[in-house]
Amino acid sequence: MTQTVSRPAAGARKQPLPLDVEAIRADFPILSRTVRDGKRLVYLDSGATSQKPRSVLDAERDFYENHNAAPHRGAHQLAEEATGLYEAARARIAEFIGAAVEEVVFTRNTTDAINTVAYALSNAATAKEPSFRRYAVGQGDEIVVTQMEHHANLVPWQQLCERTGATLRWLGLTDDGRLDLTDLDTVVNERTKLVAVTQQSNILGTINPLEAIVARAHAVGALVLVDGAQSVPHQPVDVAALGADFLVFSGHKMLGPTGVGVLWGRYEVLDALPPFLTGGSMIEVVRMEGSTFMPPPQRFEAGVPMTAQVVGLGAAVEYLQALGMENVQAHEEALTAYALEQLQAIPGVTVIGPPDTVARGGAISFTVDGIHPHDVGQVLDDHGVAVRVGHHCAWPVVRRYGVPATTRATFYVHTGYDDVDALVEGVRAAQRFFGVTPEEATA
Ligand code: PLP
Repeated sequence: MTQTVSRPAAGARKQPLPLDVEAIRADFPILSRTVRDGKRLVYLDSGATSQKPRSVLDAERDFYENHNAAPHRGAHQLAEEATGLYEAARARIAEFIGAAVEEVVFTRNTTDAINTVAYALSNAATAKEPSFRRYAVGQGDEIVVTQMEHHANLVPWQQLCERTGATLRWLGLTDDGRLDLTDLDTVVNERTKLVAVTQQSNILGTINPLEAIVARAHAVGALVLVDGAQSVPHQPVDVAALGADFLVFSGHKMLGPTGVGVLWGRYEVLDALPPFLTGGSMIEVVRMEGSTFMPPPQRFEAGVPMTAQVVGLGAAVEYLQALGMENVQAHEEALTAYALEQLQAIPGVTVIGPPDTVARGGAISFTVDGIHPHDVGQVLDDHGVAVRVGHHCAWPVVRRYGVPATTRATFYVHTGYDDVDALVEGVRAAQRFFGVTPEEATA
């Protein structure tokens, strides 16, 4: 068993926060409700799903009340308006990540986006159209992931390997919760077809050094898929600077609705991929003998899309742009520094992941000696503090660090120091409740 070593973050304290927490909280209706007999809701589970500001809720309601129709179909005014709103949201989201509009494909979520790529790659081998076979994955090929991937960026690649006879390889983790790149040049080699890696770990908080990974992958002719589910909501992400071939993320983790996500792909790559789901909207010509398909992004958007959700995601992006992603990142960095310092000052608490703020986001997983993470979560819930407990859909990570599960707090734009203080007080209360309080913890 290897475990990360806790040590206090240097000189964190309460730096001034870049975002006006009180003003932002007023934008989120759910934050004015109470939980557990009148306690203030301290929502520290944005990493699982974020709360939604009023502007996002209004955008969805306005769509259904005033413009509801299926986009890209129908000759009537509502259909025209729905198409306009849907495509305007695509343009805004493209701008947000520095992409061309036709490179932005709407999916249900990150999971759906990754499966779309995985199935396109395995379908490529048998595609009738020769131009769709360029990135085909088959026997003898290799797919590379890392040991810190969310199941969404692991299981689809395991399944792809089972379908095609390809081999799955992975980069391991260091004791302090970072990617171990020692073997990068052997793990990513001439047989590698694709490297799938998260930009920010949902469980460790680690921000990965993508530049080195992208450079190595491209040097051997492999594609790179970046899982941005935990990065796009929390830091500026520009696809040109990223240099990858795919970026995937979920609307519901970035103040947007559930049911909508994004698959960004470099146009040249998307254009060379066969579709995954087929049916209406994605076809060019259909005859009984066979069909031809639209270019991207429509090729990957079969059926009537989740239009209101896309419009809602456009509003979420507008909200984040108004705050400024640099400010969002700096805000979370300040909170993370303070939280790491406060949590690691509690005897018996061990942070699983980088113990300081270097290349690290605001997902803090920890264990408390003598108390199961589910029990920690229960006591925190009694105090109105919502956190996540368990393996966080990244089972190999908890296994790597020799723990059954962790308690995880995640921050966002409405998080303030009072939320972190409530978390810390809740952890101390759990120690008292279970009678495992070290002397210093109650001092
Ligand atoms: N990747 C990461 C890093 C995540 O944190 C998550 C969700 O927590 C996912 C992928 C899957 O996202 P979704 O469930 O929205 O598809």
